[in-house]
Amino acid sequence: MLLRYWGGHSPCCEGCGWCWHLCSDPCVLPAVWVSEIMLQQTQVATVIDYYNRWMQKWPTLQALAEASLEEVNELWAGLGYYSRGKRLQEAARKVVSELAGQMPRTAEELQKLLPGVGRYTAGAIASISYGQATGVVDGNVIRVLCRLRCIGADPSSPPVIDRLWAMANALVDRSRPGDFNQALMELGATVCTPKAPLCGECPVKQHCRARLRVEKELALASQKLLGKLPPVPDVEDCGVGDCPLCPPAAEPWDSSLGVTNFPRKAAKKQPRVEQTATCVLERRGHRGALEYLIVQRPSSGLLAGLWEFPSVPLAPGLQQEQQREVLRDHLQAWTGQPVGVESLRFMGEVVHVFSHIHQTYVVYSLPLDGDVTLDLASSPSRWVTEEEFRASAVSTAMKKVLKVCERQHGEESGPAKGSKRKRGAKPGAGGSTRPGTQLSLRAFLRAPNPP
Ligand code: SF4
Repeated sequence: MLLRYWGGHSPCCEGCGWCWHLCSDPCVLPAVWVSEIMLQQTQVATVIDYYNRWMQKWPTLQALAEASLEEVNELWAGLGYYSRGKRLQEAARKVVSELAGQMPRTAEELQKLLPGVGRYTAGAIASISYGQATGVVDGNVIRVLCRLRCIGADPSSPPVIDRLWAMANALVDRSRPGDFNQALMELGATVCTPKAPLCGECPVKQHCRARLRVEKELALASQKLLGKLPPVPDVEDCGVGDCPLCPPAAEPWDSSLGVTNFPRKAAKKQPRVEQTATCVLERRGHRGALEYLIVQRPSSGLLAGLWEFPSVPLAPGLQQEQQREVLRDHLQAWTGQPVGVESLRFMGEVVHVFSHIHQTYVVYSLPLDGDVTLDLASSPSRWVTEEEFRASAVSTAMKKVLKVCERQHGEESGPAKGSKRKRGAKPGAGGSTRPGTQLSLRAFLRAPNPP
């Protein structure tokens, strides 16, 4: 099976990934690179399907280099942190066009030459794919090493980061660096876990200073109970002076935490709070199907190149009426048509937390009786059915926005407000007239009108 694949450059199995994992052909897209990028900030269970579809679609560097950002975003839709997919594709282009199709093979070159490849990803690709004896430091490795060496200072501080990388590079097995690195990460994921480490089953427990510290603390406590004087601290215990690796003096050892005193939790940066008004413009398209207007975001910055409902950032503290006016102005400037503030209907709010932004979308809808003139030069836009919307490169936040609108329309067309017909809806149909939504039960059971 592998030989067939290596000879033909096209997947010959059900997409288990082993061919891609093992193949060393320079033309083949390094599977470790793709999986490592996808696994940043995302769990394995979520990634598997995306990974398989990606590798089936773009098994070679050439194929990925020829893909458009639109295709990349469509495949990535729902995985979050969209710049990862964009940079992966940019890097493939760079390898093909500037590096004669040859992937860099050392951690230093990978990090230096490829967009989106940081120190960890570079170390993982170089050691697992190309056998370079270089270490890796991810969240799991940080936890294991901090416990092994009782490092209690903030693990995101430069002295601690430097020490952890130095330790990882010193420890890595020269003959099987890829296996060693994966084993170390697996140890952190399955044995030396964040809250309930299985120290009794740990293969490196004899070398673990956190475990030793726990034993010493227990011995000390029992000596105190027996009224004996505490021994003079061992210099190896550290915790005194200005050591950049030790816990701060203000944060004493918590005996109830045991080895989980390490690593110390890094201070979390609060995401900034933002508000955006977003408008779901609707019209009846061909054959009466409901259609929505979506526009494409700029090709750089947050959610680059993705499609969304027309949106505009809001200044903090605006009242609902002021928000409508901001949105109205934005839509007027963009469509070149007058938009009445009163025709913007408030649908609800959607909160979506990006890595660094706590974003609230204030959702409005605007049903239109006909098409609008679009200023295509300023931002690409198109009308899509619900099905096309879901297949497009749209963010999870925008899917939530549409859900809020659909829920609101569903409530309006339900039994309590069944007589209220939405502007632009086709007259004559009982209950809900929107494709894709069911008739209300009352409308369904209503006796037919007498002839
Ligand atoms: Fe982690 Fe416990 Fe093993 Fe130390 S002995 S590395 S704390 S699991």
